Amino acid sequence: MMIQLRFLPLNKLPNGVVRFHRSVSPNFQVQNPNFATTLITRVSPPSHYTTAFMGTKVSAMVLDGKSVAEDIRDKLTIEISRMKNKFSVVPGLAVILVGERKDSATYVENKKEACESVGINSYEVCLRQDCREEEILKHISRFNDDPSVHGILVQLPLPSHINDRNILNAVCIEKDVDGFHPLNIGRLAMSGREPLFVPCTPKGCIELLRRYNVNIKGKNAVVIGRSNIVGMPASLLLQREDAAVTVVHSRTKNPEEITRQADIIISAAGKPNMVTASWIKPGAVLIDVGINPVEDSTDPRGYRMVGDICYEEACKIALAITPVPGGVGPMTVAMLLLNTVTSAKRIHKCN
Ligand code: NAD
Repeated sequence: MMIQLRFLPLNKLPNGVVRFHRSVSPNFQVQNPNFATTLITRVSPPSHYTTAFMGTKVSAMVLDGKSVAEDIRDKLTIEISRMKNKFSVVPGLAVILVGERKDSATYVENKKEACESVGINSYEVCLRQDCREEEILKHISRFNDDPSVHGILVQLPLPSHINDRNILNAVCIEKDVDGFHPLNIGRLAMSGREPLFVPCTPKGCIELLRRYNVNIKGKNAVVIGRSNIVGMPASLLLQREDAAVTVVHSRTKNPEEITRQADIIISAAGKPNMVTASWIKPGAVLIDVGINPVEDSTDPRGYRMVGDICYEEACKIALAITPVPGGVGPMTVAMLLLNTVTSAKRIHKCN
């Protein structure tokens, strides 16, 4: 029987982006590293794979965010070097961290390191947990006026005494690299309007789908979660890509039944392993945004990170899946770098 996968020339992906799980038949290898398996509608769901691969069970393809992000970062490094040489412009990102949350501090540190690795200047302000709103606003205002800063990021969540709306509104939209300003979100929601920036995590999800040639147009997509920073903008982006989008949230009745209709699932609920086999349509493409710590005595830290999607179950049913870690997380950081470079180019008109 004919193998129903299609191969396309690899013009965007770095070599080795396509990886398969251990249960893949050894007969089924990508023969040429310059070719990547694509997830075009013609690709059959796994039940067909079983037939196509002569009874061998094939598990889902891994959407390798780490490799794709590395490719993006490599290209940004070259572009930043060009901007520096030709226009004497070095992109700059300012990060404001409030409080002592360990996870926030780690995210900020990762972003700082990522900036350094591609040649973006990073500026950091760390404020005490009990700082006043005016103090944060003062730093935002300073960065808004600073020509060496092209992106401003306020690490969320903020302490409960701070009104995040006031803070996010204060970032000038030309430097709103997180894409959280209401004007940028508003433009994202309206057809015929273009936001200056799209929020990094949902943008990373769509970019990953694009890189693997997943056909979004006309597909049923379910987004689990409706937060301002992930779920809501992800649903807007999918609509812009002409998907039929359903949003499932904590008050949704029958989330499992709804999710099972989806060709594409983006899950951002923050609930470990919530999406099990019975939530998934065979052949679906799964993007797992969730990052959830679960106890693990075998890990030296005593815990490990898992997604919202039960990976072990999902990879036997889905056509493709993002791992946690190594899926959406690195794409988020890559999109932040990309947004910062885009901002610097726009502000200094260097093309
Ligand atoms: P949030 O808490 O602001 O929003 C969670 C959303 O999930 C809410 O809209 C809620 O209605 C929905 N939800 C909660 N329980 C549900 C349930 N049982 N069924 C259906 N929907 C449910 O969280 P967030 O900031 O959007 O983040 C979501 C997850 O994504 C977290 O695990 C977070 O750590 C992770 N995250 C990852 C990245 C990344 O780069 N990979 C970036 C941001 C957030």
